[in-house]
Amino acid sequence: MGIADIFGSNVFSENVMRERLPKKVFAEVKYAMDNGGRISMETADVVAAAMKDWAVEKGATHYTHWFQPLTGITAEKHDSFITAPSEGRTILQLSGKQLIMGEPDASSFPSGGLRSTHYARGYTAWDMTSPAFVKEKSAGVILCIPTVFVSYTGEALDQKTPLLKSMAVISEQALRIVRLFGNTAAKKVTSFLGPEQEYFLVDREKYLKRRDLIYTGRTLFGAPAPKGQELEDQYFGVIRERVGAFMADLNRELWKLGIPATTQHNEVAPAQHELAPIYTVANIAVDQNQLTMETMKRVATQHGLVCLLHEKPYAGVNGSGKHNNWSLGTDTGENLLEPGDSPDTNLQFLLVLACIMQAVDRHADLLRESAANVGNDQRLGAQEAPPAIISIFLGTQLEDVVDQIVENGVATSHLKGSKLDTGVATVPLLNKDATDRNRTSPFAFTGNKFEFRMVGSSDSIANPTTTLNTVVAEAFCEAADTLEKAADFETECKHYIAKLMKEHRRIIFNGNGYSDDWVAEAERRGLPNLRCMVDTVPALTTDKAVKLFEKFHIFSRAELSSRAEIMYEMYSKTVNIEAQTMIHMAGKHYIPAAINFSARLGQAINAVSSACPDGDVSVQRSLLNDVSRLLHEAQSAKQGLISESERVNAMTDVCAMARAFHDEIVPVMARLRSAVDELELIVDKDIWPVPTYGDLMFEV
Ligand code: ADP
Ligand code: MG
Repeated sequence: MGIADIFGSNVFSENVMRERLPKKVFAEVKYAMDNGGRISMETADVVAAAMKDWAVEKGATHYTHWFQPLTGITAEKHDSFITAPSEGRTILQLSGKQLIMGEPDASSFPSGGLRSTHYARGYTAWDMTSPAFVKEKSAGVILCIPTVFVSYTGEALDQKTPLLKSMAVISEQALRIVRLFGNTAAKKVTSFLGPEQEYFLVDREKYLKRRDLIYTGRTLFGAPAPKGQELEDQYFGVIRERVGAFMADLNRELWKLGIPATTQHNEVAPAQHELAPIYTVANIAVDQNQLTMETMKRVATQHGLVCLLHEKPYAGVNGSGKHNNWSLGTDTGENLLEPGDSPDTNLQFLLVLACIMQAVDRHADLLRESAANVGNDQRLGAQEAPPAIISIFLGTQLEDVVDQIVENGVATSHLKGSKLDTGVATVPLLNKDATDRNRTSPFAFTGNKFEFRMVGSSDSIANPTTTLNTVVAEAFCEAADTLEKAADFETECKHYIAKLMKEHRRIIFNGNGYSDDWVAEAERRGLPNLRCMVDTVPALTTDKAVKLFEKFHIFSRAELSSRAEIMYEMYSKTVNIEAQTMIHMAGKHYIPAAINFSARLGQAINAVSSACPDGDVSVQRSLLNDVSRLLHEAQSAKQGLISESERVNAMTDVCAMARAFHDEIVPVMARLRSAVDELELIVDKDIWPVPTYGDLMFEV
């Protein structure tokens, strides 16, 4: 079967609904999907029955409400279609009520104190805007119904509820902006997302020998391989056959799920790759990205590989992120981030741009927080990923326009793209973009979209998008509040744009985000530099944040506090697992191996000395000294880690505990790692108990 035949074959899409539902029912569903609102229970019954029939034809035996709790991944609980047997027969059924609502026991999902365990009820409710699909797993074929997940009292316990609310909010506020410019036709503004997903592949047999990869998704030990990424021979390099076979299968599986995976290439680090889909409506993109991550893991296993989605599987080479490409488009086909041929005179675009500058500058702390996770701490600001400081890259053309407006109140010209002569007579003159790319910026304008590059590779893109939509909606709302009252719209609009650009120009930075100069410069500009996840959490509950999220009914103060608490807990638990894994590996693998090696050296010294009393054993002695010193250091760091982590785990305040894990446990982990990594360079390879960086990265 060709791509066209398999694409979307596992999706209960709008087309399938149109074919299978009575006209009237389809019209009711379609209206609710496009405009929000509810469908009647009779309609739900008809849709459920059609959905069940379709899924059973695909081999499905079970259905699940598929949701996204605050663990960062998805959750599902399978129920079969079977009804109570009567006279030895059963009929397969999915009722409208089962389609629309579920009630999983919510007590074991993170709620950050929103719900005490004896109030265990949580509800999942069908999200009609994202299509249902079937998943083919070893457990059988499962019908998955995308849902939101809320508590008994209606607070969001998931990533999707706030995302959907933020999409409605930005639509409403962006419509007010386009109305100012005379657009009366548009009824809706959609946030679009195209997430580029980076990942590593590792051989499964080698993976299974590394407890750190198994328990934490990253290596906690490992001396650098003789070769890293310095030759720059991996990026866009020829894809190895085994990896190519994985990619081909992955694409097929994604296409079946209606995920338009399109771009694939080798990334910078050895064994690192990237996949990008074609962009789509934000909440569908969020679901599809979750499915992409899940499918990557599943298909990798079928190829004897493991897919590592951690932000930093290996020290010393690049980590993985997710480039979250974001734009806003009307239902009449206009992209609000399209500057057009003359951005200097495109007033609507300039107003949108000015509002985004205001939003990003004002809520830089929240955007940084939205991309924080434990793994990303290993990556941000490490000379390979964006720095932990939020800034906007506009490129030469737009920066010049902003400069003109800031200096003169208006812009009167724009830099044009030119022709590029390669100097090769047979190659035609190329049209050159007016702007070069910048790889170091966390928030870069790339032609007709912004690329939020700070997000971690394993993270959900829901939260960053919710934050982005909401902060920009606030700026749009303020602009509309002012300009809807304007007597002379054009003059006042220009004035408003100039005012915002003046106030928020400090957020624009087109230089090298990896340089130390930028850190100093950002500090002079007063831009926040939140270096680690723990530092970002307070941003959630500032008065500024509460006011913002309450104004647009995205989060209540209680929901924000609960999310802060969950982040602290997540941080502490994750670092604790890493610490315990290190203690285990040091105690069970590395220290015994080093003792073994030192015994060999001792025997070698004795053997040589007795065979040849004047023989030179200085090399063996010096190695033995080094091994003994490092053994001592490793053992002392390990013991330190045991006692320190016991102390910190006994703390009761979640915030203080997370701080202590960061400030007091992480440095001891680094001490232990450093001793073991030095030992690795000395100890005989055949005694070394685990695969090395070279084995893991170069033998895929
Ligand atoms: P890059 O130039 O960063 O390598 P591409 O131009 O191929 O990447 O685009 C990267 C991602 O951005 C893709 O997922 C693509 O579909 C998405 N994208 C393109 N245009 C838009 C848009 N207007 N809004 C959101 N995402 C977009
Ligand atoms: Mg990109």
